[in-house]
Amino acid sequence: MRGLDFKRPMNLDEAYELLNSNEKSVLIAGGLFLRLQKTSYSVIIDLETLNLNYIKEEGNFFRIGSMTSLREIEKSNLPKGIIESVMQISGVGVRNIATLGGSICGRYPFSDINIALMAHDARLVFHKSGEMPIVDFIHNGITEKDILVEVKFKKSSFSTTKYYKKVYNDFSLVNASMADNRLVIGARPGRGVIVEDISELSDVEFKTDIRASAEYRRDLAKYLVEEIMKEKMAYGS
Ligand SMILES: Cc1cc2nc3c(=O)[nH]c(=O)nc-3n(C[C@H](O)[C@H](O)[C@H](O)COP(=O)(O)OP(=O)(O)OC[C@H]3O[C@@H](n4cnc5c(N)ncnc54)[C@H](O)[C@@H]3O)c2cc1C
Repeated sequence: MRGLDFKRPMNLDEAYELLNSNEKSVLIAGGLFLRLQKTSYSVIIDLETLNLNYIKEEGNFFRIGSMTSLREIEKSNLPKGIIESVMQISGVGVRNIATLGGSICGRYPFSDINIALMAHDARLVFHKSGEMPIVDFIHNGITEKDILVEVKFKKSSFSTTKYYKKVYNDFSLVNASMADNRLVIGARPGRGVIVEDISELSDVEFKTDIRASAEYRRDLAKYLVEEIMKEKMAYGS
């Protein structure tokens, strides 16, 4: 990644204006994935100064600012399945830098936290486009350039996330998350999908890539779902 100009806006309106003032402008959060790109940008807009780093519990809802790091999520009192989704993402050094907003807006198919947020039926709040379900954003994105401000979701009684990584802190070959009765399977290697028929997984498409075959992924997914259902029974729901 290269940039000609680096800006630190003081509020969201200024950041939005900068973002839309130039075709080759980009937002930077933790910058971990952005810096791997070979693209050149005219303006790089740092979100660090916008006070978007928070975790709030309000009544029946959690709200997490988009600049909250994965490490802060890991150490928080958020639901178990959300915390589990981040605790094996690379090492602590990466989790200290990687942000919630960067993870969601990258729409990475392997993402562990995105499937957990989909299972929790999270809603994204964008500065101009307003609210939308995370499921819609992950599958379709948005057409205009906008800033993700925060993520919010209702408290659930049961919440868990499981994944299979060849070694601790590798990318998941398959991941699965459930909040109450909503199950999501991801890293298929496609993006996460909501599973309607938990007993069969026949509706879920798995594919082969360099890391694993479709059949292997399907077997792993069955195992992860069995583990989730055992945990749910032990939990008593
Ligand atoms: C070594 C390594 C291992 C990893 N392993 C895993 C893993 O096992 N599982 C997993 O789920 N993830 C993994 N990740 C990904 C990581 O969790 C983050 O998703 C990734 O680093 C991006 O977050 P960031 O804050 O660095 O985003 P950035 O690189 O800054 O941004 C990513 C994209 O999001 C956009 N963006 C950022 N914030 C906003 C916002 N608020 N509004 C609109 N657009 C925005 C940027 O413009 C950019 O296009 C890994 C990352 C690394 C570096």
